[in-house]
Amino acid sequence: MIADAVAVPAGVSAAVLARAEAAYLGLALGDALGATVEFMTPREIAHHYGVHREIVGGGWLKLRPGHITDDTGMALALGAAILASRGKVEPLACAQAFDAWMRSKPPDIGNTVRRNLVLFRRTACPEAPPSEHDAGNGAAMRVLPVALATLGQAETAVRGACRAQAHVTHHNALSDAACEFLVLAVQDFLLGKSLREVFRQRIQPLVQANPAFAFRGRSRRENPSGWVVETLQAVLQGLVDTGAFESCLIDVVNRGGDADTTGAIAGMLGGALYGREALPARWIKALDPAVRDACIAQARALVFASRPSAR
Ligand code: MG
Ligand code: MG
Repeated sequence: MIADAVAVPAGVSAAVLARAEAAYLGLALGDALGATVEFMTPREIAHHYGVHREIVGGGWLKLRPGHITDDTGMALALGAAILASRGKVEPLACAQAFDAWMRSKPPDIGNTVRRNLVLFRRTACPEAPPSEHDAGNGAAMRVLPVALATLGQAETAVRGACRAQAHVTHHNALSDAACEFLVLAVQDFLLGKSLREVFRQRIQPLVQANPAFAFRGRSRRENPSGWVVETLQAVLQGLVDTGAFESCLIDVVNRGGDADTTGAIAGMLGGALYGREALPARWIKALDPAVRDACIAQARALVFASRPSAR
């Protein structure tokens, strides 16, 4: 089902590569699974599907089964821009790639993304103005290629690369905190850290530094909006309260709301944590083959690009 393994260059472990592929496939699987129930309430989902657990397309975008939305589409555009920049996260290249993606008339596009890409067309400046209102999840949902391309780099460099891509459309402290947390957590999982370790070393510090993200001791976050705080609350509750890739994604998307995005983010974290063997074969089979192949190819190329010896 998944393409056969290829030769692994020196300095890249096969285990890391397999988890990187799982993270990218997990992103697309969560997007495709969640898109069916995006903007529905948990009650509506239960009424229509019981528990929504299959990749069947539909939803408000009337997607064909296995097709993806802006979450995976923007990640693939970002990944291509990073690869074209020899593994570096260059703001102008990112902005041009997102602009080209917008011109391709994707099925959906967030308001903040659209507004600041239109501004980029006018000004040619690849950094949006700071805004306390631009705390949507649009920068966080597409951040995975940065995690792969900066694997092994110093944390300050990783955080800088996160902001470089994020600020093209979302120049906001909460968005930055979410993007940097996600990238560093994905990298920890890729390198074999456990959920318990990442909870202590990444999740708890995120909440301590940004109490808005607190997700423990509060009710189940249902109907998460596009606000990155609600997105992460839903994803982290799902990740911490389940013990497997499939159950995590089912938990998260059945909360409804921005379900393709919570699914995509949970999928990239869950893929990195649980690995390729944990991805349900029936979901991989249902995923658009072109998307599946693009995710695998980019995951490999981005991890290779992160190794100076492989350049
Ligand atoms: Mg989407
Ligand atoms: Mg969404």
